[in-house]
Amino acid sequence: MINVLFSAKPAAWAEYRVSLETAFADAGMDVALATDHAPDAVDYIVFAPNGPVTDFTPYVNTKGILSLWAGVETVVGNATLTQPLIRMVDDSLTAGMVEWVVGHALRHHLGMDVHITGQDGVWRDTVYPPLARARPVTILGLGALGTACGQALTTLGFPVTGWSRSPKTVDGMRCLHGADGLRDALTDAQIVVLLLPDTPATENTLNADTLALLAHGAFVINPGRGPLIDDDAVLAALESGQIAHATLDVFRIEPLPSDHPYWAHPSVTVTPHIASTTRPDTASRIIAANIQRHQTGDQFENQVDRVAGY
Ligand code: NAP
Repeated sequence: MINVLFSAKPAAWAEYRVSLETAFADAGMDVALATDHAPDAVDYIVFAPNGPVTDFTPYVNTKGILSLWAGVETVVGNATLTQPLIRMVDDSLTAGMVEWVVGHALRHHLGMDVHITGQDGVWRDTVYPPLARARPVTILGLGALGTACGQALTTLGFPVTGWSRSPKTVDGMRCLHGADGLRDALTDAQIVVLLLPDTPATENTLNADTLALLAHGAFVINPGRGPLIDDDAVLAALESGQIAHATLDVFRIEPLPSDHPYWAHPSVTVTPHIASTTRPDTASRIIAANIQRHQTGDQFENQVDRVAGY
């Protein structure tokens, strides 16, 4: 019998309970799934940072903490966490992010707002959208999400540059890495998508200096994490016209305070951290497969590098 503790918000327990039980049963695993196992009896924890477990010290026999979230910045630095931490990589989460990023990129690329907000009897037929191939896009972060978004945009014809910490090769994309690669990646980009993790090394990746590298009138799309951008620099770049619009899904403080300048800014679109989410049916199967892999002596997939912070 494997004891799995579920530690997330009560609403998540209602969403995940049946999916997890089904996934364990389908995998032929004998699992006791509960929200209240004695800490020293817990083998694995299915975890979200907003759940009851914040001190991992009593979980002396726990072999892995399986996060329901892709972003682990709120738990990776927890001093009581000595067990392996595994982040969520889920095809459904990825698919949702691809759809959100492609949708918002196309909105800006096609200039949709002119017509959506311009239903006033004026026949505006002088400007045609350019083709995707004329609009360079840069994706900061070439992980599970950034790579999939880059590939989808490449398929539509956008010239896509991706940037990561280590060297990467992705079919159809220009791949750059490291501090030196960032300048080349951003220079003359017309759309920038941030899909980096929130770590000390990625804070303010988009700042006054790096925003100045973009093509004048570029679009910024941030579904990554709030600290990746310097908010004052983004507001100043909007003011000067260096960037034409910022579509922001994530913020340093969430919910974004109602008096934050982003809400009222005509060239900022705020979405409330809904770009994508983990889906219980697919995520449960991934968690079951990862626990089973560990039970049979293999390494966990997608284990967090505690030093790198993601
Ligand atoms: P991932 O697979 O861990 O990929 C992270 C990417 O960022 C990797 O390519 C990594 O480089 C790169 N990177 C990390 N630190 C870097 C640095 N200092 N310089 C350059 N590149 C760096 O993560 P993911 O699953 O794609 O998710 C990315 C982020 O999306 C998550 O951390 C989370 O914050 C966010 N997210 C948001 C939502 C939402 O709804 N808004 C939903 C899910 C996730 P290497 O490839 O060299 O390691």
